[in-house]
Amino acid sequence: MNVHEYQAKAILKEFGVPVSRGVPIMAASEARKAAEELGGPVWVVKSQIHAGGRGKGKFKEATAGDKGGVRLAKSIDEVEQFSKEMLGATLVTLQTGAAGRTVGRLYIEDGAAIDRELYLSALVDRATSRVSFVVSTEGGMDIETVAHDTPERIHTISVDPATGVMPHHGRAAADALNLKGDLAKGMAKLLTQLYAAFVAKDMDLLEINPLIVTKDGQLKALDAKMSFDGNAMYRHPDVAALRDEAEEDAKEIEASKHDLNYITLDGTIGCMVNGAGLAMATMDIIKLYGEAPANFLDVGGGATKEKVTAAFKIITADENVKGILVNIFGGIMRCDVIAEGVIAAVKDVGLQVPLVVRLEGTNVQLGKDIIARSGLNVIAADDLDDAAQKIVTAVRDARGKA
Ligand code: GDP
Ligand code: MN
Repeated sequence: MNVHEYQAKAILKEFGVPVSRGVPIMAASEARKAAEELGGPVWVVKSQIHAGGRGKGKFKEATAGDKGGVRLAKSIDEVEQFSKEMLGATLVTLQTGAAGRTVGRLYIEDGAAIDRELYLSALVDRATSRVSFVVSTEGGMDIETVAHDTPERIHTISVDPATGVMPHHGRAAADALNLKGDLAKGMAKLLTQLYAAFVAKDMDLLEINPLIVTKDGQLKALDAKMSFDGNAMYRHPDVAALRDEAEEDAKEIEASKHDLNYITLDGTIGCMVNGAGLAMATMDIIKLYGEAPANFLDVGGGATKEKVTAAFKIITADENVKGILVNIFGGIMRCDVIAEGVIAAVKDVGLQVPLVVRLEGTNVQLGKDIIARSGLNVIAADDLDDAAQKIVTAVRDARGKA
């Protein structure tokens, strides 16, 4: 789960990390008061979307101007003007894709005077099973580009969970970033604070780009991207409450309400499968036969008819879906439950695209009979290979006719 920059900074502040003072706003009418409260003389008006690269981003609407999604304002009038221009407009950045994101919130910040821009992030390193810090002198840049072009400028510092952050980690980070004296001490303290926040809140990723050295010699987190382990949200109701559904895929939100493991992808074949491994294999075999899956969906082991119905509706509601493949190996899951769920959903929402069903396992004959009796136009398949070929052929035939 992701949160907005201003929410991430509020969490960092709880742990003592230095950030600028700021006020989030949802309407341009709040801009003047926010700017007055902060005092100036320089403010930063920042679009709040769950994507980076906002500064260099472009708005689709000409009325939003061409100054990007992060703007320095030199007067309260300018803060108000930028707020009017950006709120409600669609920001396209390297990370949003061509569709962009609607800016529904702004963060007005007290402008900082920057001496140097650095990069710092913390992440769960799966190779070492530890939290690692990644630091670089190349702050404010796209870190993937730095990693590709100048990998020697990226330093990784791995933290043993038994000891937590030690003074030597601080020294290593300060060395890598050319920080001396008080700044080096500040770096050691910052790592301790970030590590505490990372662990306490079950984060997946914390990226501060840029971490700045201010003109008066202080470290400050100027930007913050934070994402949390979704499986740990149950023990962080405060974090879960920060969720902004406007930033998330409506289909994924609906799926999470039904406790379905669903992820939208960009292909054309909707998949309904039980078991994550079988779902991955199904996606792979669709690819093998030359098409791409529109989603990952694991309906789980003990799915009810209602859950299957909800899942099928989410798939059919996706206009990118040109064909559906139901692939069930009934173990705990019974094939007749799947069949009933599929039929209930089709009765409700209709079926505009070809549907291939492969059932195997517990109550398979019962499931097949239910589908056969339903009068639905279902293409039956015997095994996974057969099913994948049949749905790919059906989708291509439909495309040929269109
Ligand atoms: P991003 O483009 O989405 O990564 O947004 P950032 O929060 O990183 O802001 C983009 C850039 O705007 C930063 O790299 C800075 O160069 C600049 N910027 C952001 N806040 C301030 C500020 O308080 N003062 C100054 N002078 N520049 C800022
Ligand atoms: Mn940034």
